[in-house]
Amino acid sequence: MFEQVNICVYEELNDFLRPHQRNREFTYELKQPRSVKDLIESVGIPHTEIDLIFINGESVDFNYRIQNGDHISVYPELKTLPDQVITGTSLLKAPLRHNKPEPLHEFRFVLDVHLGRLASYLRLLGFDTLYRNDYDDVTLASVSVNEHRILLTCDRQLLMRKGITYGYFVRTRQLQQQLLEVLSHFDLYDKQQPFTRCMHCNGKIQQVDKKEIETRLLTKTKEYYDEFFQCESCRKIYWKGSHYQKMQDMIDKIRTQGGN
Ligand SMILES: [Zn+2]
Repeated sequence: MFEQVNICVYEELNDFLRPHQRNREFTYELKQPRSVKDLIESVGIPHTEIDLIFINGESVDFNYRIQNGDHISVYPELKTLPDQVITGTSLLKAPLRHNKPEPLHEFRFVLDVHLGRLASYLRLLGFDTLYRNDYDDVTLASVSVNEHRILLTCDRQLLMRKGITYGYFVRTRQLQQQLLEVLSHFDLYDKQQPFTRCMHCNGKIQQVDKKEIETRLLTKTKEYYDEFFQCESCRKIYWKGSHYQKMQDMIDKIRTQGGN
């Protein structure tokens, strides 16, 4: 005989569900004994997106073993606890168990192979961002775990790999929307340091004396510009040409949209 549980997920976690499961309690067949973490991932939500889990009103961690008839409520990280959590749970009996790890002191990222353009623009805004178009899933996971980097990906299966604690599923597909989504989700608007990092290799950019690099410049660039910057790692030279103005316009637009 099948056993079943009742699941209700909240806020943006609904993005991972099929339409008929969203914003309502739905039943789910329990075919084998399993932890609540496994069960929620089998519904489609990566563990990296989850903070609070309540079973029949009690706050639990990922290791809780699911039992027949359990009522499961799942929340992402919340700035303030919603009323249904405060009134519908046994807060007085036990403390809340947060499944999200402690926030990182520094926001550093590693991006999957499909997010190359997002990687360049995060670097443009000054965020330490690793990306290579030949990183496989094993490498991405180990870089994220070993270097405490937030794994940004559009692949939810990748986020479900064991051991990954810092990760985020990028919802949107359009570049500028992706940037806004990441900046908003991690509250990074006031942490931007534009033009401090190389868009190509993630190295730090420093001002450089024109004399040191002028043999590498095209005649017109040498003629029209006097201020130059260079990547410490790949030695790429930057200057405030037309490309710079386009970037600056985009950064200004992002600031406006972010309310700064
Ligand atoms: Zn570089």
